[in-house]
Amino acid sequence: MMHYSLYLHIPFCRKKCTYCDFNTYAGMDDSFAEYTAALCREIRLMGDHRRRPPVRTIFIGGGTPTVLAISQLKQILQTCFTAFDILPDAEITSEANPGTVDESYLRKLLSLGINRLSFGAQSFNPAELQMLGRIHSAKSIGQTIAAARRAGARNLNVDLIYGLPNQKLSDWRYTLERAIALGVEHISLYSLTLERGTALRAQMVRGELPPPNGDLAADMYELADALLAEAGFRQYEISNWAKPGFRCEHNLTYWRNQPYLGMGPGAHSFENRRRWWNVRSVPQYIETVAAQNDPHPHPALADFETIDRRLEMGETMMLGLRLTADGVSRADFSARFGVPPEAVFGAEIAKLKALGLLHTDSQRLKLTPSARLLGNLVFAEFLPTNDE
Ligand code: SF4
Repeated sequence: MMHYSLYLHIPFCRKKCTYCDFNTYAGMDDSFAEYTAALCREIRLMGDHRRRPPVRTIFIGGGTPTVLAISQLKQILQTCFTAFDILPDAEITSEANPGTVDESYLRKLLSLGINRLSFGAQSFNPAELQMLGRIHSAKSIGQTIAAARRAGARNLNVDLIYGLPNQKLSDWRYTLERAIALGVEHISLYSLTLERGTALRAQMVRGELPPPNGDLAADMYELADALLAEAGFRQYEISNWAKPGFRCEHNLTYWRNQPYLGMGPGAHSFENRRRWWNVRSVPQYIETVAAQNDPHPHPALADFETIDRRLEMGETMMLGLRLTADGVSRADFSARFGVPPEAVFGAEIAKLKALGLLHTDSQRLKLTPSARLLGNLVFAEFLPTNDE
């Protein structure tokens, strides 16, 4: 049976990190109440628009959702429960940052029905945390995880970043070992990308920091893969490792190319071969949603695109191949599109197999281990080029 996922964007942080180009802002505390009301309005308008299959996952992300008061998060979640049919065992995740929460706050957060917490730890090295502009210390990561456990959390993720300027393999090993020692269920690893407009990129352009070292980043990935496997984590996606039974169901929705509704400024949605995204600016979002009174399929629309069948098939391949353990299931692909993957992408699959980047058997198509760092090369094969 088809299920839905909801993404709720909280576009606020205490301080903007030096590498961050997400749609999130510091110093907007005065807007929290007005924003909460706007987000609830969008949830209601979209939920009332039409009946949908039940929701299996909710992800409150950002930004830093935990800058909001518990009462505000409660209002947001209660609105979701009223506007949508949420499964009783739905996975409900909130992102959080060490340094913004204590045990009492976390206890209340869990009492709202949130059953998975994802912490932006990033590094255990004080100099790296400072370079990244993080507000927390290395010590506070462990304290926050311990507080989450005391509060009753059973499903915890930490995010880490590797490939940092001046980061040595030994620094990364230290961060990994500290993260593993936390005893969390899930670890996500991201390679640093120096996005345009970020303070960190400006520092690199000015020559104050060395440019990224791709070879070293690849070594860091391999090291992580080995240490995490040794610690009982299983890789299931290019950037994600979980203890058995703790994969992130919400992100699996994206990788399986299933429908999701994103609410909040800049949030994306995908439903019925249509992808749309909301206006990005917070004040414009608040204004747009306030002007809408009737149930609406996309109350804060910025723009949309129609996904034709060929593109949907290509995206299903591209996203599914990110799943390193499961890959793309032939049966699922055929059930969805009425044809097996080879009927559409025969030449591409043959080429990638010849290059040693793709492995196929009677049931699945998967990246080979060496292709995990060359994902973009593989994915490009399944997307239409401009002249198609
Ligand atoms: S806490 Fe996360 S979302 Fe907020 S500025 Fe830092 S990296 Fe960006």
